[in-house]
Amino acid sequence: MPIDSPAVAQRFGDGAISGERALAYVSDFVALGPRVSGTTGAERAAEHLKDAFAKLGIDCAIDAFEDKTPAGAVTFRNVVGTIPGRGEGIVVLGSHYDTKSGIGTHFVGANDSGSSTGLLLELASVLGKSSHPFAEIRCIFFDGEEAVRKYGPTDGLHGSRRAARLLKEEGLPVRAVIIMDMVGDRDLKINIPRNCDPSLTRLALDAAAARGVRDRFGLMRQPLLDDHVPFLKAGLPAIDLIDFRFGSKPGTHDYWHTEQDTLDKLSAESLETVGRVVIELLNRLSPLATPAQ
Ligand SMILES: [Zn+2]
Repeated sequence: MPIDSPAVAQRFGDGAISGERALAYVSDFVALGPRVSGTTGAERAAEHLKDAFAKLGIDCAIDAFEDKTPAGAVTFRNVVGTIPGRGEGIVVLGSHYDTKSGIGTHFVGANDSGSSTGLLLELASVLGKSSHPFAEIRCIFFDGEEAVRKYGPTDGLHGSRRAARLLKEEGLPVRAVIIMDMVGDRDLKINIPRNCDPSLTRLALDAAAARGVRDRFGLMRQPLLDDHVPFLKAGLPAIDLIDFRFGSKPGTHDYWHTEQDTLDKLSAESLETVGRVVIELLNRLSPLATPAQ
Protein backbone atom coordinates (compact mmCIF):
# COMPACT_ATOMS: atom_id res chain seq x y z
CA MET A 1 0.00 0.00 0.00
CA PRO A 2 1.50 3.39 -0.88
CA ILE A 3 2.12 5.42 2.25
CA ASP A 4 0.17 8.37 0.90
CA SER A 5 -2.98 6.32 0.53
CA PRO A 6 -6.00 7.53 2.49
CA ALA A 7 -6.21 4.23 4.35
CA VAL A 8 -2.82 4.84 5.96
CA ALA A 9 -3.41 8.54 6.53
CA GLN A 10 -6.70 7.83 8.24
CA ARG A 11 -5.31 5.16 10.51
CA PHE A 12 -4.34 7.83 13.06
CA GLY A 13 -7.41 9.92 12.44
CA ASP A 14 -5.59 12.66 10.56
CA GLY A 15 -8.77 14.45 9.60
CA ALA A 16 -9.76 14.56 13.25
CA ILE A 17 -6.99 16.99 14.24
CA SER A 18 -8.65 20.29 15.02
CA GLY A 19 -6.71 23.52 15.22
CA GLU A 20 -9.69 25.19 16.91
CA ARG A 21 -9.72 22.57 19.64
CA ALA A 22 -5.93 22.80 20.04
CA LEU A 23 -6.25 26.58 20.41
CA ALA A 24 -8.97 26.11 23.03
CA TYR A 25 -6.59 23.86 24.96
CA VAL A 26 -3.90 26.55 24.69
CA SER A 27 -6.34 29.22 25.85
CA ASP A 28 -7.46 27.27 28.92
CA PHE A 29 -3.87 26.45 29.79
CA VAL A 30 -2.51 29.98 29.35
CA ALA A 31 -5.37 31.33 31.50
CA LEU A 32 -3.70 29.60 34.48
CA GLY A 33 -1.00 32.31 34.36
CA PRO A 34 2.80 32.04 34.61
CA ARG A 35 4.25 28.54 35.08
CA VAL A 36 7.73 29.13 36.38
CA SER A 37 9.30 25.86 37.57
CA GLY A 38 9.15 25.31 41.31
CA THR A 39 6.26 27.76 41.85
CA THR A 40 2.64 27.04 42.70
CA GLY A 41 1.82 28.18 39.15
CA ALA A 42 3.84 25.31 37.69
CA GLU A 43 2.29 22.84 40.12
CA ARG A 44 -1.19 24.06 39.15
CA ALA A 45 -0.26 23.66 35.47
CA ALA A 46 0.92 20.06 36.06
CA GLU A 47 -2.36 19.21 37.81
CA HIS A 48 -4.30 20.83 34.95
CA LEU A 49 -2.48 18.62 32.41
CA LYS A 50 -3.05 15.53 34.53
CA ASP A 51 -6.77 16.33 34.72
CA ALA A 52 -6.85 16.91 30.94
CA PHE A 53 -5.36 13.44 30.34
CA ALA A 54 -7.90 11.95 32.78
CA LYS A 55 -10.76 13.56 30.84
CA LEU A 56 -9.40 11.97 27.67
CA GLY A 57 -9.26 8.58 29.39
CA ILE A 58 -5.47 8.45 29.06
CA ASP A 59 -3.36 6.91 31.84
CA CYS A 60 -1.19 9.60 33.34
CA ALA A 61 1.38 10.08 36.08
CA ILE A 62 3.21 13.09 37.46
CA ASP A 63 6.91 12.34 37.79
CA ALA A 64 8.11 14.76 40.49
CA PHE A 65 11.85 15.04 41.08
CA GLU A 66 14.31 17.44 42.61
CA ASP A 67 17.17 18.94 40.63
CA LYS A 68 19.85 21.54 41.27
CA THR A 69 19.51 24.96 39.62
CA PRO A 70 21.47 28.22 39.98
CA ALA A 71 18.58 29.37 42.21
CA GLY A 72 18.89 26.31 44.50
CA ALA A 73 17.15 22.94 44.50
CA VAL A 74 13.79 22.92 42.69
CA THR A 75 11.05 20.31 42.54
CA PHE A 76 10.15 19.69 38.89
CA ARG A 77 7.13 17.77 37.61
CA ASN A 78 6.98 15.97 34.27
CA VAL A 79 3.48 14.94 33.27
CA VAL A 80 3.46 11.65 31.37
CA GLY A 81 0.46 10.23 29.48
CA THR A 82 0.60 6.74 28.02
CA ILE A 83 -1.34 5.54 24.99
CA PRO A 84 -0.71 1.79 24.64
CA GLY A 85 -0.88 -0.04 21.32
CA ARG A 86 -0.37 -3.55 19.98
CA GLY A 87 2.58 -2.84 17.71
CA GLU A 88 6.28 -2.27 18.05
CA GLY A 89 8.47 0.46 19.48
CA ILE A 90 7.85 3.57 21.52
CA VAL A 91 7.18 7.00 20.09
CA VAL A 92 7.55 10.01 22.38
CA LEU A 93 5.67 13.24 21.70
CA GLY A 94 7.00 16.02 23.91
CA SER A 95 6.44 19.67 24.81
CA HIS A 96 7.70 21.75 27.68
CA TYR A 97 5.02 23.55 29.69
CA ASP A 98 7.01 25.85 31.98
CA THR A 99 7.49 29.58 31.42
CA LYS A 100 10.74 31.47 31.77
CA SER A 101 11.33 33.29 35.05
CA GLY A 102 12.15 36.95 35.44
CA ILE A 103 10.22 38.29 32.43
CA GLY A 104 7.34 39.93 34.24
CA THR A 105 4.21 39.07 36.16
CA HIS A 106 2.14 39.17 32.96
CA PHE A 107 4.30 36.76 30.98
CA VAL A 108 2.03 33.83 30.14
CA GLY A 109 4.06 32.27 27.33
CA ALA A 110 1.16 31.66 24.94
CA ASN A 111 3.49 30.51 22.17
CA ASP A 112 6.40 29.48 24.42
CA SER A 113 5.18 27.00 25.83
CA GLY A 114 1.37 27.18 25.65
CA SER A 115 1.11 26.44 21.91
CA SER A 116 2.89 23.11 21.90
CA THR A 117 1.21 22.13 25.19
CA GLY A 118 -2.26 22.67 23.69
CA LEU A 119 -1.33 20.92 20.46
CA LEU A 120 0.04 17.93 22.36
CA LEU A 121 -3.26 17.63 24.23
CA GLU A 122 -5.11 17.71 20.90
CA LEU A 123 -2.77 15.05 19.47
CA ALA A 124 -3.26 12.90 22.59
CA SER A 125 -7.01 13.26 22.21
CA VAL A 126 -6.93 12.04 18.60
CA LEU A 127 -4.31 9.33 19.12
CA GLY A 128 -6.04 8.08 22.27
CA LYS A 129 -9.05 7.16 20.16
CA SER A 130 -7.07 5.44 17.40
CA SER A 131 -5.48 2.03 17.23
CA HIS A 132 -1.90 2.89 16.39
CA PRO A 133 0.75 0.38 15.30
CA PHE A 134 3.34 1.14 18.01
CA ALA A 135 3.77 -0.54 21.39
CA GLU A 136 3.20 2.84 22.99
CA ILE A 137 2.84 6.50 22.23
CA ARG A 138 4.09 8.43 25.25
CA CYS A 139 3.06 12.06 25.59
CA ILE A 140 5.38 13.94 27.92
CA PHE A 141 4.97 17.48 29.20
CA PHE A 142 8.40 18.58 30.40
CA ASP A 143 8.98 20.94 33.30
CA GLY A 144 12.13 23.05 33.58
CA GLU A 145 13.04 23.58 29.92
CA GLU A 146 13.78 27.24 30.52
CA ALA A 147 17.13 28.19 32.03
CA VAL A 148 17.24 30.44 35.09
CA ARG A 149 20.48 32.03 33.86
CA LYS A 150 22.31 30.19 31.11
CA TYR A 151 21.86 26.67 29.74
CA GLY A 152 24.21 24.18 31.38
CA PRO A 153 24.26 20.82 33.16
CA THR A 154 22.29 22.27 36.10
CA ASP A 155 20.31 24.97 34.30
CA GLY A 156 17.49 24.29 31.81
CA LEU A 157 16.24 21.10 30.10
CA HIS A 158 15.63 19.50 33.52
CA GLY A 159 12.49 17.61 32.50
CA SER A 160 13.78 16.33 29.18
CA ARG A 161 17.11 15.24 30.75
CA ARG A 162 15.17 13.25 33.32
CA ALA A 163 12.80 11.71 30.75
CA ALA A 164 15.66 10.81 28.38
CA ARG A 165 17.55 9.04 31.16
CA LEU A 166 14.49 7.07 32.29
CA LEU A 167 13.62 6.13 28.71
CA LYS A 168 17.16 4.94 28.03
CA GLU A 169 17.12 2.88 31.25
CA GLU A 170 13.92 1.15 30.15
CA GLY A 171 15.92 -0.27 27.25
CA LEU A 172 12.91 -0.57 24.94
CA PRO A 173 13.19 0.27 21.23
CA VAL A 174 12.43 3.95 20.63
CA ARG A 175 11.22 4.77 17.10
CA ALA A 176 11.22 8.52 17.51
CA VAL A 177 11.16 11.40 19.95
CA ILE A 178 9.20 14.29 18.44
CA ILE A 179 9.51 17.58 20.33
CA MET A 180 7.23 20.52 19.58
CA ASP A 181 8.04 24.06 20.74
CA MET A 182 6.63 27.46 19.65
CA VAL A 183 4.26 26.02 17.07
CA GLY A 184 1.38 28.51 17.23
CA ASP A 185 2.65 31.72 15.57
CA ARG A 186 0.16 33.05 13.00
CA ASP A 187 3.14 33.55 10.71
CA LEU A 188 4.24 29.91 10.93
CA LYS A 189 7.62 28.80 9.66
CA ILE A 190 8.94 25.69 11.36
CA ASN A 191 12.72 25.58 11.14
CA ILE A 192 14.15 22.19 12.01
CA PRO A 193 17.47 22.68 13.82
CA ARG A 194 20.60 21.11 12.31
CA ASN A 195 21.15 18.88 15.32
CA CYS A 196 18.11 16.68 14.75
CA ASP A 197 18.12 13.05 13.67
CA PRO A 198 18.69 13.19 9.87
CA SER A 199 16.16 10.49 8.97
CA LEU A 200 13.47 12.08 11.13
CA THR A 201 14.25 15.45 9.55
CA ARG A 202 13.82 13.97 6.07
CA LEU A 203 10.59 12.22 7.12
CA ALA A 204 9.22 15.46 8.61
CA LEU A 205 9.94 17.43 5.43
CA ASP A 206 8.39 14.65 3.31
CA ALA A 207 5.38 14.62 5.65
CA ALA A 208 5.02 18.40 5.25
CA ALA A 209 5.18 18.03 1.47
CA ALA A 210 2.56 15.28 1.55
CA ARG A 211 0.24 17.54 3.55
CA GLY A 212 0.77 20.43 1.13
CA VAL A 213 2.54 22.65 3.69
CA ARG A 214 6.17 22.21 2.68
CA ASP A 215 6.50 26.02 2.43
CA ARG A 216 5.86 26.20 6.19
CA PHE A 217 8.80 23.91 6.99
CA GLY A 218 12.50 24.51 6.48
CA LEU A 219 15.90 23.80 7.94
CA MET A 220 17.63 26.01 10.47
CA ARG A 221 21.22 26.83 9.60
CA GLN A 222 22.40 26.23 13.16
CA PRO A 223 21.95 23.62 15.85
CA LEU A 224 19.64 24.55 18.72
CA LEU A 225 19.64 23.63 22.39
CA ASP A 226 16.13 22.44 23.20
CA ASP A 227 14.37 19.43 24.74
CA HIS A 228 15.43 17.13 21.88
CA VAL A 229 19.11 17.39 22.86
CA PRO A 230 19.08 15.16 25.99
CA PHE A 231 17.42 12.42 23.92
CA LEU A 232 20.05 12.74 21.17
CA LYS A 233 22.76 12.56 23.84
CA ALA A 234 21.15 9.34 25.11
CA GLY A 235 21.49 7.93 21.58
CA LEU A 236 17.78 8.17 20.75
CA PRO A 237 16.43 9.52 17.44
CA ALA A 238 14.92 12.93 18.16
CA ILE A 239 13.61 15.94 16.26
CA ASP A 240 12.54 19.44 17.31
CA LEU A 241 9.68 21.08 15.43
CA ILE A 242 10.15 24.74 16.34
CA ASP A 243 9.38 28.13 14.81
CA PHE A 244 12.15 30.16 16.35
CA ARG A 245 11.16 33.45 14.74
CA PHE A 246 8.39 35.07 16.73
CA GLY A 247 7.98 38.77 16.19
CA SER A 248 5.98 41.75 15.01
CA LYS A 249 7.30 41.50 11.43
CA PRO A 250 8.47 38.54 9.35
CA GLY A 251 12.00 37.61 10.30
CA THR A 252 11.94 39.41 13.67
CA HIS A 253 11.95 37.76 17.07
CA ASP A 254 10.78 40.58 19.35
CA TYR A 255 7.81 38.75 20.97
CA TRP A 256 9.97 35.91 22.26
CA HIS A 257 10.43 35.89 26.05
CA THR A 258 8.43 39.09 26.45
CA GLU A 259 4.98 39.92 27.79
CA GLN A 260 4.00 40.29 24.12
CA ASP A 261 3.85 36.49 23.88
CA THR A 262 0.05 36.40 24.13
CA LEU A 263 -2.79 34.35 22.71
CA ASP A 264 -3.72 36.88 19.99
CA LYS A 265 -0.39 36.13 18.23
CA LEU A 266 -1.44 32.50 17.65
CA SER A 267 -3.73 30.87 15.12
CA ALA A 268 -5.71 27.65 15.03
CA GLU A 269 -4.49 27.13 11.48
CA SER A 270 -0.83 27.04 12.52
CA LEU A 271 -1.54 24.54 15.29
CA GLU A 272 -3.52 22.37 12.88
CA THR A 273 -0.73 22.52 10.27
CA VAL A 274 1.85 21.21 12.71
CA GLY A 275 -0.57 18.65 14.15
CA ARG A 276 -1.33 17.21 10.73
CA VAL A 277 2.36 16.97 9.87
CA VAL A 278 3.05 15.16 13.15
CA ILE A 279 0.29 12.66 12.34
CA GLU A 280 1.70 12.19 8.83
CA LEU A 281 5.17 11.72 10.33
CA LEU A 282 3.76 9.01 12.62
CA ASN A 283 2.20 7.33 9.61
CA ARG A 284 5.56 7.32 7.88
CA LEU A 285 7.21 5.84 10.99
CA SER A 286 4.62 3.12 11.17
CA PRO A 287 6.03 -0.43 10.91
CA LEU A 288 3.07 -1.11 8.60
CA ALA A 289 3.95 1.64 6.11
CA THR A 290 5.71 0.62 2.94
CA PRO A 291 8.99 2.42 2.28
CA ALA A 292 8.87 5.66 0.29
CA GLN A 293 9.10 5.10 -3.46
ZN1 LIG B 1 11.37 29.92 26.11
